Amino acid sequence: MAKNSELRIAVMPGDGIGHEIMDACLVLLDTVQAKVGGYRLAYNPLRAGAEFYRETGTDITDEDFAAAGDADAILFGAMGLPEVRFPDGTEIAPHLKMRDAFGLFAGVRPCKAYPNTPRRLLDERAATIDLIVLRESTEGLFYSRGRGEVIGDSEARETLRITRATSEKLFDFAFNLARRRKAKGGKGMVTCVDKSNVFRAFAFFRKIFDERAKLNPDIKATHNYVDAQALDLIRRPWDFDVLVTENMFADILSDLGGGLVGGMGMAPCAEIGLEHALFQPAHGSAPDIAGQNKANPTAMFLSAAMMLDWLGERHGMDSMLTAARLIERAVEQGFASGRIRPLEFGGSHGTAEHTRTIIEIVGELR
Ligand code: ATP
Repeated sequence: MAKNSELRIAVMPGDGIGHEIMDACLVLLDTVQAKVGGYRLAYNPLRAGAEFYRETGTDITDEDFAAAGDADAILFGAMGLPEVRFPDGTEIAPHLKMRDAFGLFAGVRPCKAYPNTPRRLLDERAATIDLIVLRESTEGLFYSRGRGEVIGDSEARETLRITRATSEKLFDFAFNLARRRKAKGGKGMVTCVDKSNVFRAFAFFRKIFDERAKLNPDIKATHNYVDAQALDLIRRPWDFDVLVTENMFADILSDLGGGLVGGMGMAPCAEIGLEHALFQPAHGSAPDIAGQNKANPTAMFLSAAMMLDWLGERHGMDSMLTAARLIERAVEQGFASGRIRPLEFGGSHGTAEHTRTIIEIVGELR
């Protein structure tokens, strides 16, 4: 950490709506920092992503990649554009490289229902949805990224990888997360989501889960097959707490989770390793609405709150934990009072109006 409670944040807005939601987020971060005091964030703006690739032929420079690794945390907007691809047809996604290089094995994707947001399920209990999809983010099927084999024009293969070392870290992270949530009234439960009835790799994954569960007897450990989990996320999502699963399964289930609580504008994400962490909304660059003041910045704001939370815990700085709570409370209150009405949900607030309102609420909160 830099001196005098100053923390260095690598800021990468990226592509599409990444620009507008990042601008909004930095204004909010400055506002809470001024209100709470006791720490200072020093931003280091870095360029990366599909627009940068289109201009320069590179997705991120080595120098900026190293600067991101050197920062205390990385704050990301969104990256990738459908029409800009590497020659092999894959998307421009420097954050996938960062997950590998910085060991960001734990992708924390909260799905929480906020008041006055669209209720996708009719059941009253949908208002209490509050779960985390914990995505293993460095192996699983994504391990095969860039390694897949295309055999002539007749076959293609990708290989899924599960290792003991990463799985143990992941499950320990899951139990600790459930424990922290339990301390704040959570269910204290971790569900291992797999396909162990069909694949050896998942039987191995589940075996390691059960071993780590024995070391965490204060937290309830349960299992679900991924197909049944998809069903249960529609049938009874309010019964779950932390769902821990493989990279590709989580990629899919976390979008389902985002949909359950309104839409992708409500889905924040933290990608955490032992030494590094990257914070970004779970949604993409949304080119269909980019540059039109239509993006819902909530996921970006809540990702920034997760960043403050992680930094505060890591550096023992309570002021940052207070700042994180302030953002969460402002979002909660904005929706509860009906003062925030995002265009994403048929309301009248574009990104700018939404941000102004959240900042007003931060100013009012005690
Ligand atoms: P990726 O694969 O990079 O995650 P994607 O192809 O899943 O991206 P998104 O960019 O997440 O797609 O967009 C999916 C849909 O959700 C689009 O219709 C987009 O406009 C909408 N969307 C995504 N983020 C937001 C947001 N913050 N506010 C409003 N709408 C959003």
